[in-house]
Amino acid sequence: MQTVIRAAELRSLLAAARGAGRRIGFVPTMGNLHAGHQSLISLARERSDLVVASVFVNPTQFGPSEDFSRYPRTPEADAAALAAQGCDVMFLPAVDELYPHGAENAVRIHVPGLSETLEGAIRPGHFDGVATVCAALFNLVQPDLAVFGQKDYQQLLVIRRLVADLSFPIEVLAAPIVREPSGLAMSSRNQYLDPDQRERAAAIFATLGWMRDEAQAGRAAADIEQGALLRLESAGLRPDYAVIRRADDLAEAGAGDGPRVALVAARLGSTRLIDNQLL
Ligand code: AMP
Repeated sequence: MQTVIRAAELRSLLAAARGAGRRIGFVPTMGNLHAGHQSLISLARERSDLVVASVFVNPTQFGPSEDFSRYPRTPEADAAALAAQGCDVMFLPAVDELYPHGAENAVRIHVPGLSETLEGAIRPGHFDGVATVCAALFNLVQPDLAVFGQKDYQQLLVIRRLVADLSFPIEVLAAPIVREPSGLAMSSRNQYLDPDQRERAAAIFATLGWMRDEAQAGRAAADIEQGALLRLESAGLRPDYAVIRRADDLAEAGAGDGPRVALVAARLGSTRLIDNQLL
């Protein structure tokens, strides 16, 4: 595996691969890789000839009081994990490589509607940062396909909208959520949890399962959402939301609206966790 830190070097390396007719698969990450990320690499490996993973803690998607500075950065372990998974190129840019005019002055991409609800309402500007960095990375890598985790369900929808509206010729693949044995969705932020919090965090997955069962039994969404909040609170979590929404655009779901998704965000101490389940 090659590690590349310069955008120009990445461009010429990938131009050569593209010229040779190789199909390029791309997996954007913030590093500190775990089995969830590895599953994305495997999917890209199966579906493309050359796999590129970026490792970049993107400043524009963090709010001023969020964990940008303490977000775990482990590039050496990430390189080993990517190589073991069959990744061909790790792109490890510095901030000024992706934001030549500084992160604060960067052009922003805003996906209306989708970016403003749920995570977007609680983390204003978060999805602008995600859409912006992904658009820049898509232009650099020019992949045939890009893999995103269903774990960040709203992000996946934002990316699909970005790709459709800006006509990126990229197939977006969604990879299933990889979980700990307790059901807790794997996340780089899980390492902020102490052993007691980690045990409590399993209530998120249990609550999503309960929401799915209640929805399948035909119970009204508003009642399920109320019950889910109580369940999370009684497990010692502070939920930001526990909702049932339309799976394709996260609008409030009415009867007969097609596929739905249950989404939860909850805090444990200073750690914020998100998870979801298609119904
Ligand atoms: P991150 O490094 O947290 O920005 O995540 C990079 C990619 O990995 C995103 O597409 C995430 O949705 C995906 N991802 C993170 N955790 C998981 C997980 N537990 N299962 C599947 N995909 C994941």
